[in-house]
Amino acid sequence: MDADKVYFVPWNMNGDMLERSKALYESAGTFDVVSPGDKVAIKLHAGELGNPNYVRPFFLKHIVDRVRSLGGKPFLTDSTTYYPLKRNNAVDHMETAVANGFGFAPFIVADGLMSENGVSRPSPDPLLEDVEVAGAVDQADAMIVVSHLKGHPLTGFGGAIKNVGMGCVTKKTKLEQHRLLDLVVHQEHCQGCGVCVEACWFDLPRLEGDVAVIDSPNCMRCPICSSSCPEGAITLENRDKILLGVSVAAKGVMDVFPPGKVSYVNFANDVSTVCDCAPVQGDKYIKDVGIFASHSPLSIDAAGLEHIEYEHLNQVHGVDCQVQLVKMQELGAAGSRQPTVEKV
Ligand code: SF4
Ligand code: SF4
Repeated sequence: MDADKVYFVPWNMNGDMLERSKALYESAGTFDVVSPGDKVAIKLHAGELGNPNYVRPFFLKHIVDRVRSLGGKPFLTDSTTYYPLKRNNAVDHMETAVANGFGFAPFIVADGLMSENGVSRPSPDPLLEDVEVAGAVDQADAMIVVSHLKGHPLTGFGGAIKNVGMGCVTKKTKLEQHRLLDLVVHQEHCQGCGVCVEACWFDLPRLEGDVAVIDSPNCMRCPICSSSCPEGAITLENRDKILLGVSVAAKGVMDVFPPGKVSYVNFANDVSTVCDCAPVQGDKYIKDVGIFASHSPLSIDAAGLEHIEYEHLNQVHGVDCQVQLVKMQELGAAGSRQPTVEKV
C-alpha cells in the first residue's frame, strides 16, 4: 500500500459508475484492509434530511457486499451531531439513514444514543485535550471511510480528514474542535434587536440592556447567529483553528487502528459549497469530477482538492482549505500533499 498514491476514476455521464467504482477499488486495494472475521466500520455521512447531496446508497451497498464476501462483518456507521437537526441522537439518526436509503445493512450510531459511547484516546497535539473516539469506531477491526467531497462554511471543505476528525468522535470532541474558534460580539454595532436570540438553536444569546451577550460554554461557534445579525455585530475569529482541530482529531482517530486497516474513498460528484450536514443543497459550482480511492486521508483529500477548484471554496468561506492538509502532514500522517494520481 503506497500512501502517496491515489487512484481516480473520472465521472462519466454515459458510463456505469457502479462498475467503474468496482474497478477503482480493486486497483486501489480498498478491501485489502479486511481480514476474515473483522468487524468493519464503513464510515459514511448519511446526509441531512432534505439535502440530496450525499453518496448514493447503491455505492455503499456494493462495499458492504464486498466486505461480506471477504469474510468481514460490515456495518454502516456515523456519529450524532452536536447541532439539533435530524441526526442529533441515535433514534433520529437511524430514521434519517433509513429515509436516505441506508436500510440495507446494520447502521450503528457510533457514539450511542446521546453520544455517551466514547473512548478517550491521546491527542497527537496540545490543541485538543484528548480525542474521544466514538465507541463503534474505536472497537472496529478495520474501517473504510466513504466521504462526499464538498464545501463547508467553517472548515472550507469536507473530505476524508473531516469525515474522520469530526465524524468519528463524540459530541464532546466535536464541541472542543468548534470552540477553538473565538466568537466576538461587537457591542458598539449591536442594536439589541434580538434576532440572534431567535436564530440560535440553543437559545444561548441573551440581551443585557441593549446589547447581546454570548458567553455560554455550550456555544458551538456555528455560523448561525453571525450570519443572521443584520448589523454584522457578531464575528467568528481565528478561523484556521477549527481546520487544525479537525486534523488533530482525525490523526487521533487514525492512531486507534493498526497500519493497513483503514482505506478511503472520496466521491466528487454533486460538489456544492455547502456541507451534507445542512438541510439545503447549496450551490453546485462545478461539474461532477469522479471517485478517488487511497490508503491515506491526506493524499486523497489533496488529490480531490486539486480537482474541485478549491480556491472557490476558500473565497466563499474565507479560509484556506489547505490548512487541514498542512496540519496532517505536520502531525506525521502518512501520505503526501502532492500525491501520484493514477487514472483507472
Ligand atoms: S442580532 Fe446582532 S444587532 Fe441584533 S441583538 Fe444580536 S448581535 Fe445585536
Ligand atoms: S454561535 Fe451563535 S447560534 Fe451558534 S451556538 Fe453559539 S450562540 Fe448559538
